[in-house]
Amino acid sequence: MDSILCDLCPHHCVIQNGKRGICKVRENRGGKLFLPYYSYISSSAIDPIEKKPLYHFRPGSLIPSFGFVGCNLRCPFCQNWEISQRTECGARYYTCEQIINYVSQGGFPHIAYTYSEPLVHYEFLLECMRLAKKNDITNVLVTNGCINKDYADMILPLTGAANIDLKSFNEDHYKNILGGDLPAVLAFIENAFSQGVHIEITTLVVTGFNDTFEDIDRCLDFIAGISKDIPYHLSAYHPAYQYHAPATDKTLLLEIAKRAKEKLRFVYPGNIP
Ligand code: SF4
Ligand code: SF4
Repeated sequence: MDSILCDLCPHHCVIQNGKRGICKVRENRGGKLFLPYYSYISSSAIDPIEKKPLYHFRPGSLIPSFGFVGCNLRCPFCQNWEISQRTECGARYYTCEQIINYVSQGGFPHIAYTYSEPLVHYEFLLECMRLAKKNDITNVLVTNGCINKDYADMILPLTGAANIDLKSFNEDHYKNILGGDLPAVLAFIENAFSQGVHIEITTLVVTGFNDTFEDIDRCLDFIAGISKDIPYHLSAYHPAYQYHAPATDKTLLLEIAKRAKEKLRFVYPGNIP
């Protein structure tokens, strides 16, 4: 009774009255969708754009970056779990006007939505992105790409650049360990590329999760099948949140990167000393 369906992402949550969906930020209040964290900003910083990471989009520039709370995945090695897996973190509410005015008055040509998963704040994102575009500010997404196509089709035309996670090519791992959906992520990557968004892809190489040549090879084949020119970031993992396996072996990461360079033109191992 009074339950609602959220079809924003592949979870398709049926949310009972007074409860929230898996992402923890979309609520059923009295039979209607309520967004308790609309415009709730958990973190902000002015970062080098390479930190997103984006290496082929306006290199050397600084980008004002804003983070939210909640996520539709539950990666046990999440490096930002304090904001992705929790919602109460002493954040503050800012309107889109305040955010875009700040970016505009600082003379920045772009803005990043990042740190936790921006796509679960779809409505706020749309409002901000439209306002940014109106002010000639380029929207940059840093995302897990786990969203259904109808919604992606609204967001992507407003997006100038995106770094998208491809966390593994193992569908079961995506589903059972991360709580995600590999086909949705692959479709998002293809969709973004075909809509002319500048995309770069990141795989966090996690010890005991995806650190096999077989898994990474399948990621590489998929990316190369779209374009060999898509920059690919292979990041070293460090123990975080609920995952305590040793950090990614540096030699292994460099070996994986070497193999990757046989299939893609731009491969960047990162997050290593
Ligand atoms: S966006 Fe959140 S509430 Fe909606 S389907 Fe995904 S996890 Fe569920
Ligand atoms: S998708 Fe990103 S923010 Fe969400 S749980 Fe996984 S690593 Fe954390």
